[in-house]
Amino acid sequence: MVRLRGRLARSQNVLGRGLLELLSRDRLDDEVWDEIEETLITADVGVAPTRAMVEELRTKVKVLGARTPVEVRKLLREELLAQIAPDLDRTLHTRPHGERPAVVLVVGVNGTGKTTTSGKLARVLVGDGGKVVLGAADTFRAAATDQLQTWGDRVGAGVVRGPEGGDPASVAFDAVAKGIEDKADTVIIDTAGRLHTKTGLMDELGKVKRVIEKKAAVDEVLLVLDATTGQNGMRQAQVFAEVVNVTGIALTKLDGTAKGGIVISVQRELGVPVKLVGLGEGPDDLAPFDPDVFVDALLG
Ligand code: GDP
Repeated sequence: MVRLRGRLARSQNVLGRGLLELLSRDRLDDEVWDEIEETLITADVGVAPTRAMVEELRTKVKVLGARTPVEVRKLLREELLAQIAPDLDRTLHTRPHGERPAVVLVVGVNGTGKTTTSGKLARVLVGDGGKVVLGAADTFRAAATDQLQTWGDRVGAGVVRGPEGGDPASVAFDAVAKGIEDKADTVIIDTAGRLHTKTGLMDELGKVKRVIEKKAAVDEVLLVLDATTGQNGMRQAQVFAEVVNVTGIALTKLDGTAKGGIVISVQRELGVPVKLVGLGEGPDDLAPFDPDVFVDALLG
């Protein structure tokens, strides 16, 4: 996996630098506080967390009289970290239970990076000495299956695929069965992300999950969210979170956006921790989400 800090530094710390600059102004009047608020909202922090942060910062700056760059940075760091909820459990459940492999279901809207994230995660687990089976349950697009096959070949993970247009639940079932048979450590199932109707999605994902559970428990439901799509992507993510019991978020394309604030709003709105971040298209461009490192990267 790549180092979060190095990869974020290039595009991300626009937010942190902007805030530090604003907070270091000689006069912190209403206008400057409005600008601070705007900076946070532009970075997708979300309106409610932004208000909470600004209020807290205003009080602290006043009470502590914090004005030197070092003091301001410390305050801002504490505030951002508090909003990122450092105490959330971010354990990724990929370890097998005795004879049974762990099952990770990867869900989200098409184009967010599900297949890429499944491949990258497989790469990490194989690199750690694990045996991984990938299930290509996005049977609606032949290209998606081929893409997962390419990832499997590349990272050394077996791929279970079904016929084009076949039943996604049956591919998921076969992948778990293969995982058990091969004594794999982890089975990662890549699903289709067609947001046709909520009921359709619910039926489809619900069935995939029920069918898998005939064989093994689903340990992790990873919701993939594209950081560049902002609040719009978040609304779509919310639909998935209503349909399946999401246990973690993989936030992709953080390399291509200055909107790192989405980490704060997505966790707050979905009540689920960000566990992984995608920082590029390559096989090693996946990192565990570490709040401390993330905040330091934001502040540059
Ligand atoms: P899916 O439809 O959800 O399975 O999405 P894909 O895995 O096919 O990804 C869609 C596009 O996003 C592809 O071109 C990926 O290479 C790209 N992508 C995925 N994750 C990342 C990431 O973290 N950073 C960047 N820059 N691109 C990514």
